[in-house]
Amino acid sequence: MSKQILILPGDGIGPEIMAEAVKVLELANDKYSLGFELSHDVIGGAAIDKHGVPLADETLDRARAADAVLLGAVGGPKWDTIERDIRPERGLLKIRAQLGLFGNLRPAILYPQLADASSLKPEIVAGLDILIVRELTGGIYFGAPRGTRTLENGERQSYDTLPYSESEIRRIARVGFDMARVRGKKLCSVDKANVLASSQLWREVVEQVAKDYPDVELSHMYVDNAAMQLVRAPKQFDVIVTDNMFGDILSDEASMLTGSIGMLPSASLDANNKGMYEPCHGSAPDIAGKGIANPLATILSVSMMLRYSFNLQDAADAIEKAVSVVLDQGLRTGDIYSAGCTKVGTQEMGDAVVAALRNL
Ligand code: NAD
Repeated sequence: MSKQILILPGDGIGPEIMAEAVKVLELANDKYSLGFELSHDVIGGAAIDKHGVPLADETLDRARAADAVLLGAVGGPKWDTIERDIRPERGLLKIRAQLGLFGNLRPAILYPQLADASSLKPEIVAGLDILIVRELTGGIYFGAPRGTRTLENGERQSYDTLPYSESEIRRIARVGFDMARVRGKKLCSVDKANVLASSQLWREVVEQVAKDYPDVELSHMYVDNAAMQLVRAPKQFDVIVTDNMFGDILSDEASMLTGSIGMLPSASLDANNKGMYEPCHGSAPDIAGKGIANPLATILSVSMMLRYSFNLQDAADAIEKAVSVVLDQGLRTGDIYSAGCTKVGTQEMGDAVVAALRNL
């Protein structure tokens, strides 16, 4: 049976980078007989222009019916002044929430060819390949009660709540273990169990889930130490699983180890590994329409889609290899350019990956 992929290019550089990612996906589809059927729709500002809302119901229905969604980026100055509730970013939050995408995967991969682009010493980061699995729909960002109250002495006090149920922890822990199983078989669970009750339960449940994954080596680390270790010796990690807030902070820290946001893909998964795949960056209005955006984060999002939603490891490996070949050839978009390399535009970069994939 064919597998349905919904393509949502979005705004700004979204359509430019998506065009290149789709070329790579279509070639992989033919070359490896993957049986994908692609359909296209609008989200974000493009959807506001067409439907008056950033995510039309019919688009959401198509996303629900699809086996995976590939998204570019949303937003831009054109829509910055409209009512907050129908801004482009609302479309993104809505599709994530409505599809129940609780597992956010953010790899931080530094291709050795780009070691100079990192702010850390090349020997610390060369070959870096870690994956942060962040819980995306629970914890302190959603917990109730929250608010501000006035104390007896007249001073205001604000408070948030950090709730995690066993089932919420169990399902994200499983994502972490599943990911570790298809990678380096090492999972580090990050918490603050020396202080937080929610983290104590987190640790307990992760330990329970570990019994189903005897082939994965589990370790625990406090979040303050993890933040330090990520810049001290990031290559000690394979997969990190953590809660919503810790994951928010650590994944941004980890992404900067790799130098350019134009290289970073991401995935958000539901309980059945149905996912939405997108680059970590935004719609980059400052360079939109110039043909100079780096399409590699979106192309690598295609690779993640093949790997995590469809378990097509060989095809996923091939796309990553093709990207590596192109970097070996010295081709660079502006954001990853360094002296001695050849500067190329979005389309040339996409064509080069297609050519490299074809020749593998
Ligand atoms: P941004 O990620 O769009 O851009 C930050 C900087 O990185 C810019 O200088 C941009 O030119 C550069 N950049 C980003 N992607 C690049 C690429 N592929 N190649 C080369 N350079 C690249 O972040 P921003 O400027 O804060 O936000 C711009 C718009 O994007 C806003 O409307 C924001 O709300 C939206 N946004 C959307 C998403 C998303 O769709 N997931 C995420 C973040 C921001």
